[in-house]
Amino acid sequence: MKILVVNCGSSSLKYQLIDMDDESVMAKGLVDRIGIDDSVLTHSPSGKDKVEFRQDIPDHTVAIKMVFDALTDKNHGVIADLNEINGVGHRYVNGGVLFPESVLIDDKVIADMETTFPMAPLHNPAHVAGIRACAKVMPGVPMVSVFDTSFHTSTMPAKAYTYGIDYKVAEKYSVRRYGAHGTSHKFVAQRTAELLGKPIEETKIITCHLGNGSSITAVDGGKCIDTSMGLTPLAGVLMGTRCGDIDASVVTYLQTQGAVKPEDMETFLNKKSGFLGVSGVSSDLRNVEEAAAEGNEHAKISMEVFYYGVQKYIGAYAVALGGVDAIAFTAGIGENSILARERILEGLGVLGVEIDKEANNCRGVEKLITTPNSKIKAFIVPTNEELAIARDTMAIINK
Ligand code: AMP
Repeated sequence: MKILVVNCGSSSLKYQLIDMDDESVMAKGLVDRIGIDDSVLTHSPSGKDKVEFRQDIPDHTVAIKMVFDALTDKNHGVIADLNEINGVGHRYVNGGVLFPESVLIDDKVIADMETTFPMAPLHNPAHVAGIRACAKVMPGVPMVSVFDTSFHTSTMPAKAYTYGIDYKVAEKYSVRRYGAHGTSHKFVAQRTAELLGKPIEETKIITCHLGNGSSITAVDGGKCIDTSMGLTPLAGVLMGTRCGDIDASVVTYLQTQGAVKPEDMETFLNKKSGFLGVSGVSSDLRNVEEAAAEGNEHAKISMEVFYYGVQKYIGAYAVALGGVDAIAFTAGIGENSILARERILEGLGVLGVEIDKEANNCRGVEKLITTPNSKIKAFIVPTNEELAIARDTMAIINK
């Protein structure tokens, strides 16, 4: 069975064609700058050279047509005919409480999705545009939606998702913690349980998805019991350009002081804060680490804020879980920043964590990075959200 995984952003479309017989990636690529000048499709067929296709790409329908042309291209393609694609799995950022699990897409599902647009105004409408585009270009091929929120919303208890505001307002406007990166947290928790050699039902794991966006999740017996992101992916630890947890009064104070206009606040908190805002250097941790090594104090403090934030969540979740078997690091920073893992784990001595610095001296590989004496094991577990989406898609189609 071959599954196409599609992840649509407002001006981009990422895809992977996966052969589920051996879970290998046959081709992957990115359509960038949809609806903007200089649109381009970069297509990487497995075992062949990467190729770029440039043309005007006004919308997602044209983008998906180009992807299909690339997949069946006689020089750069990997399948002879579109009929070889058995299903399409779509990533969906915030399904609210309507979608506690992955679903087969039909007209009713699309109508329900449209009610979730305010929950992720940049992402959700783009996902539906991608779904409609695929339906147009390959009618009759089953499509499944996999929600970043499902892993959290399906099991997180009310005490973890309820905000301390008037419940009537919260209910009316669906204000609660939804979390994000759920597909990644679930995938990484499952893999970590395998590495522990235990059924996931018998494990207590803290998954740290640390990338440009970062979130931390407490997973008890395979179920999410708490997560650091909130109503939106702005909450939690300091991120590339997002502020993370903040006293809500900072927002009203800056507005009343005239420092940031109300209409600019969303951009200020989401795009100009985090590593970028605090360091004044970059949103990319590699650049921040470099600047810190050269003595930049703002860069140094942004890193300290990040490490400390992650440590505080791990400490809190150790209590929430009533014990921890393993901490898993994943995503761009979690898999690649030797320094971040070292500094975070070094601060967890009180929990009995003992890092193995030599083992930690690596990037992007699945590995145990604590000593045999460590009371809690820590692992690097590379995430694979596309494969997780493809697995869900296949399981639902096979039902
Ligand atoms: P992601 O959003 O998962 O792609 O992660 C992006 C983040 O990972 C960026 O902040 C990168 O700076 C960071 N990253 C990737 N490689 C490294 C590395 N070798 N060292 C430190 N940070 C890295």
